[in-house]
Formats: sequence, structure tokens, C-alpha cells
Amino acid sequence: MTFGIDDLPVRDELRGKSPYGAPQLDVPVRLNTNENPYPLPEALVERITERVREAARDLNRYPDRDAVELRAKLAEYLTKTSGYAVDTRDVWAANGSNEVIQQLLQTFGGPGRTAIGFEPSYSMHGLIARGTGTGWISGPRHDDFTIDVPAAEKAVAEHRPDVVFITTPNNPTGTAVPAETVLALYDAAQATKPSMVVVDEAYVEFSHGASLLPLLAGRPNLVISRTMSKAFGAAGLRLGYLAAHPAVVDAVQLVRLPYHLSAVTQATALAALEHTDTLLKYVEQLKTERDRLVAELRATGYEVTESDANFVQFGRFADSHAVWQKILDRGVLVRDNGVPGWLRVTTGTPEENDAFLDAAREVQRCVG
Ligand code: PMP
Repeated sequence: MTFGIDDLPVRDELRGKSPYGAPQLDVPVRLNTNENPYPLPEALVERITERVREAARDLNRYPDRDAVELRAKLAEYLTKTSGYAVDTRDVWAANGSNEVIQQLLQTFGGPGRTAIGFEPSYSMHGLIARGTGTGWISGPRHDDFTIDVPAAEKAVAEHRPDVVFITTPNNPTGTAVPAETVLALYDAAQATKPSMVVVDEAYVEFSHGASLLPLLAGRPNLVISRTMSKAFGAAGLRLGYLAAHPAVVDAVQLVRLPYHLSAVTQATALAALEHTDTLLKYVEQLKTERDRLVAELRATGYEVTESDANFVQFGRFADSHAVWQKILDRGVLVRDNGVPGWLRVTTGTPEENDAFLDAAREVQRCVG
């Protein structure tokens, strides 16, 4: 017997658990992790190289601990794209929005506190809750994956969570959450004590609708979390950020590690933000392709959940894992998120989407 995790004195709640992660398989078409399929444009690669070269000269020093220049540029981007004025002091950045969420839970959750999410949703919310010692409550959704507002309000009233997660567009279903739902849950979350409401907008640039940033006005317990991993096509960069009342930004600084954002990360993100317009052009192409995937999957006889994201949930299957394997056998990797009856495909390039649709049609003929 080899020495393993269970032989170590790990925390009880981690025993028997597996790390989060989609399979990283070497197959021709990988549509399983909601990445942007387009490599960065050459002009941006050049700019990153220049900025990183400059930063490299100062690597003997710690980076700007408060990432002020980067936060200012992120605030500018948010203001420009939403029309809602966001200030540098309203923005905080970290290594991916996963780290943003972790810092929020370290600040507002923790032992003796709870967080709620409406599932199926982004499973890392629950996993980061567990990692930070925060109790996790799984809230309800309707069968069509929209949030069941009265049931959600009831769950918030009953459990009085310290943190409420709302993911819009939702992962893995693609479902957008209307502003009224967020407002109703914000009010429910303030009814008996002040609780934080975190709106995870990782995919908002792909949405048919607008960002919920304007809801921040007059709501100091609301946080909008965003990322450069999806629309900016920079998943490898690891840059996530939030917009909220400046007091929230002050609060998360109580738990952030000093110098958490490396000088190389800050330089790379700043270069990417100089090319926002070019990067967002790909978003329009991806939205068109996403809509094509929805239409063609439906025409093939699949059920498809309405999507506002860069991925599409399709089904229904008696055995979704068997269908996942059949699609994989045809060289296309999609995601089995464990939602019974459903699989999720990320929008790729037109060629990748064609390859997926061909595989999906063949599989439909076998199972259908
Ligand atoms: N939120 C949602 C809803 C996501 O789907 C993801 C990534 N899959 C993230 C946050 C985290 O993204 P990142 O850490 O790359 O910013």
C-alpha cells in the first residue's frame, strides 16, 4: 500500500474528495472548458512581449501590490462597455475570478457562516466555499433552469446565508438571470441581516442582454465578478476582477496575499486591455456561432437550453456519459458537468463547430 492523501491528517471535509477539473485530453477538437478558440492576434502578442520585457527589468522588486494602473484600465473598460461609471476604487483584481471568489468567501464567509447558490451552477462556488470552511447551501431552480424566485427567496429567508451567488449567464446551462431576479434576491438577502450578493458575470460579454453593473448604484452589498478568461480569450493569463462599493475592495484586501498579482500578470493584462476592441470582435463571431449551434442542434432533434454564454447545453439523454463518450470517439471533447440528461459544448471556430455538429448528428442517429 502506498502512502496517500487519506494517510495524512487532512481536514475532514476534504477526505474522499477529488480536485476540480475537466479532463485535459489530447483530441483534435476540444470544446469542454468554455475557452475562446481564437489565439491572441499577433499585434497583441507583440505588445505583451514589450510590456513584459519592461516589467522584467524590475522583477527584483515586488509588483504594485494594489495593481492601481490595471484596476484603472479595468474600470475604464467596464465604464465604456456598460455606460455605468466605474471608478478605480470600485475595482479589485486577482488571479482569475476563482481567486476573486475565494477572497470574497474568505472575507464574508468562513467557519460558522454559509453561502448559497442555485444549482446546477458553477460548481467552484460550492468547492471554494468548502475550501474556505464556509457552509454550502444548494438552492433550487425550475426544470427549465431559470431561477425559481419564490423558492429562492424562501431558501434565503430560511437559511439566512452570508453570501448569495447568482451566476448570469449561468454555467453550465447558459441561462441569463433577469435584473428583477437579482434585485428580489438582493432584497431577500438584506431582510434579516446584511448579506453579500455576488453576481458572477464571467460570460456576460456573450449575452444578448446587458451587464448588471448599473445595479451597483446604492447597493453596497452587491458584487459583480468578471474575468478576462472568456471574452478576452486570455484564460492562460489568469486575470479576474470584481466591481463593487469601494468598502468591499477595502475588505477583500484584508485577506489577499501581499503582491498576489505578479508584475508579469499585470503587464500582460494591461497589454490585452489596450486591444479590447480587437478582442471583442471575436465575441461577436462567437455569438453568431453559438446561435448557429443552438439552431442546428435543435434541427437535429436535440433539446437545447436557451444560451446567453459561449457554450450550449444540449440533451436529453438517458445516459449522458455514454453520449459524451460517443462524441469523444469521433474526436470531439465536450463536457459532462454531471447534470443528469445533459451535456455542454463550448462554441469553437466554425470548423470546430462543424466537426462537433457532424459528430452530434451521427450520435443522434445511433441513440435517437
Ligand atoms: N465563473 C464562472 C461562472 C465560470 O464558468 C468560470 C470558469 N469556468 C469562472 C468563474 C472562473 O474563471 P477564471 O478563474 O478563469 O476567471
